[in-house]
Amino acid sequence: MSRWTGVLEKPGTMTHAGYHFPRRGINGAPVWYARMPSPARVNHGTYNRIVIWDILIIGAGPAGLSAALFTRMRRMSTLLLDTAVAGGQLASLYPKKPVHDYPSYTYVMGEDLGKNFVDQANHMGAEIREREHVTMIRRDDEQNLIRVTSTKGEHEARSVIVATGGGAFEPRKINKPGEAELKGKGLFYGMPDVEASKGKRVLIIGGGDSALESALSVKDVADVTLIHMLDKWQGMDTYVEEIQASKIRTMTARSRRWS
Ligand SMILES: Cc1cc2nc3c(=O)[nH]c(=O)nc-3n(C[C@H](O)[C@H](O)[C@H](O)COP(=O)(O)OP(=O)(O)OC[C@H]3O[C@@H](n4cnc5c(N)ncnc54)[C@H](O)[C@@H]3O)c2cc1C
Repeated sequence: MSRWTGVLEKPGTMTHAGYHFPRRGINGAPVWYARMPSPARVNHGTYNRIVIWDILIIGAGPAGLSAALFTRMRRMSTLLLDTAVAGGQLASLYPKKPVHDYPSYTYVMGEDLGKNFVDQANHMGAEIREREHVTMIRRDDEQNLIRVTSTKGEHEARSVIVATGGGAFEPRKINKPGEAELKGKGLFYGMPDVEASKGKRVLIIGGGDSALESALSVKDVADVTLIHMLDKWQGMDTYVEEIQASKIRTMTARSRRWS
């Protein structure tokens, strides 16, 4: 049974879109429809009734949270489910990395930008549930709704938006001998921890934005080497220029030597 904090309407109530929805939900239980609560009304009281959401969004990253902002501006009841934490990659993969390409900020830390997205969606009255992994979605033609199954239960929605980005985060492996044994013991996937890297030799594998930014993030505290399997860096020119002007050692497919 879905649990929702907000304002509920009686079964069969006309919605904002003017539709009458069926009055029976899962197992024939009466259905109460989620009315579009104004932000001020959200979290007033707790209800334990079946709710049909206007919009259910899978994934609370920047895309899902932006979608929620606009569905709430249309006063549609909106539920976001995220298998990890709200904020997507900003919160899960690079909270301590500065983001330089978000308009209106000179730069903003990943965790701060992620929190801004979440705060705004919350303020608009979207319901966000974390650590709830969606495992199945299926259409129920008879009831004219979509059933969404998660690790915590089943939800009903009129429409579903899939905003799962890169999916549940699984780092891409290099598939080389020793990788499994060293994982977590000197071998890490993701942005390096600046504090933990102090005074160490850090070897970074990759040539895209993430690798270049990782190298730059620890260049002042560690002895950094960057290895890329292609001839050309794939990251932004600004990062490439910064790396070339720094003391970071690099090795590409063409060079096959330290530069
Ligand atoms: C190290 C790194 C640095 C980056 N730096 C920048 C940068 O400086 N500037 C920039 O513009 N971009 C940057 N990016 C890319 C940027 O973070 C992504 O483009 C952005 O996060 C995509 O947003 P999204 O909402 O589409 O997906 P995501 O952020 O991937 O969010 C998707 C969400 O869906 C959830 N999810 C997935 N599957 C399920 C499921 N089955 N059930 C429930 N939830 C699910 C995930 O947990 C996740 O929270 C960077 C990426 C990385 C990895």
